[in-house]
Amino acid sequence: MNYERPNIQRMTGYASGEQPSQADAIKLNTNENPYPASAAVADALRACRVEDLRRYPPPLADSFRRVAADYHRLDPDNIIPTNGGDELLRLIITTFADPGQILAIAEPSYSLYPVLADIQGCQIARIPLQDDWSMPEDFVERLNSSGAKLAFVVNPHAPSGHLASEQELRRIAERFQGILVIDEAYVDFIDPQLSYDSTDLVREFNNVLILRTMSKGYSLAGLRFAYGLGASSLLSPMLYKTRDSYNTDYISQVLATAALADARGAAVSWQKVRQERDRLQTELAALGFLCAPSQSNFILAQAPAGESPEAGSIYQQLKQRDILVRYFDQPRLRDKLRITVGTPQENSQLLAALGEILSS
Ligand SMILES: *Cc1c(COP(=O)(O)O)cnc(C)c1O
Repeated sequence: MNYERPNIQRMTGYASGEQPSQADAIKLNTNENPYPASAAVADALRACRVEDLRRYPPPLADSFRRVAADYHRLDPDNIIPTNGGDELLRLIITTFADPGQILAIAEPSYSLYPVLADIQGCQIARIPLQDDWSMPEDFVERLNSSGAKLAFVVNPHAPSGHLASEQELRRIAERFQGILVIDEAYVDFIDPQLSYDSTDLVREFNNVLILRTMSKGYSLAGLRFAYGLGASSLLSPMLYKTRDSYNTDYISQVLATAALADARGAAVSWQKVRQERDRLQTELAALGFLCAPSQSNFILAQAPAGESPEAGSIYQQLKQRDILVRYFDQPRLRDKLRITVGTPQENSQLLAALGEILSS
């Protein structure tokens, strides 16, 4: 006897990036920040006492919401803290979409969206991105004609690192008949000279929800803390009805608050990542890879054409050398590798290994 709901029986779960067993493996496959969180976070962790865990945590993570409201020049009512971005995505879908309704995604993108849609019994409308990974001109018309209740756009885009402008997103928000979710998991790595800032959209529209996470920019993937930005009318059903009563734990609240309050500390790592991103792009190009220009902490690199091994084989040969990158065996991606920007030393080891693999 199988007790699962039929849609759960039919679906496949999310495949996380591999976790290497060797401690000295070079891990460039899940877009983690190669540098540790700032000293302010380490201090906050040391100051946590076991007695602090006797009581339930503040249900809405008030301290974090205040710091986040300051940081984004919004109101605490515009902030919803969650147990990782993945919880926020699940909350959005279960709060706003009925089973059978349609979720639209730009294709390709984060492979968790279809998994969450399956859990809720929603349909997926996939709108292909253009060759340079930008959204097509008629993106919003296609969203509306698909009948989608929710649309998910990753910006900077994963897995390419392509950045859509705030104006492009505004045009979509203005005309889309559903809720536009802008997944900004990698926003901290954008070149500051581009002055990208989409938070005005939250002030202007009540159908825009922005996802931010402490996992990538703030080096806290193991902590599980993220948050959403949106109009208070949009967030309120999640804040007061559908969220687990204590969805973020005490320690994660304390550390996430310390991390965001010291964003300037984290920004040191962002700048280092940008510098290495530029070097990696240049050197990968010198090896014959075609790289999509990235505003993120990873690079999507198309394997050299001609005699050299294919991307899947390069991925395997790197793995044999304990260097992990991400390979997606799916249309438009199976000739490419997604490489997380690591420390200068890790990147140099990757480049040396690629040099050997391509010349063997
Ligand atoms: C990493 C990531 C998230 C959120 O990750 P959490 O660790 O759950 O906060 C969301 N969207 C994309 C595209 C990501 O890569």
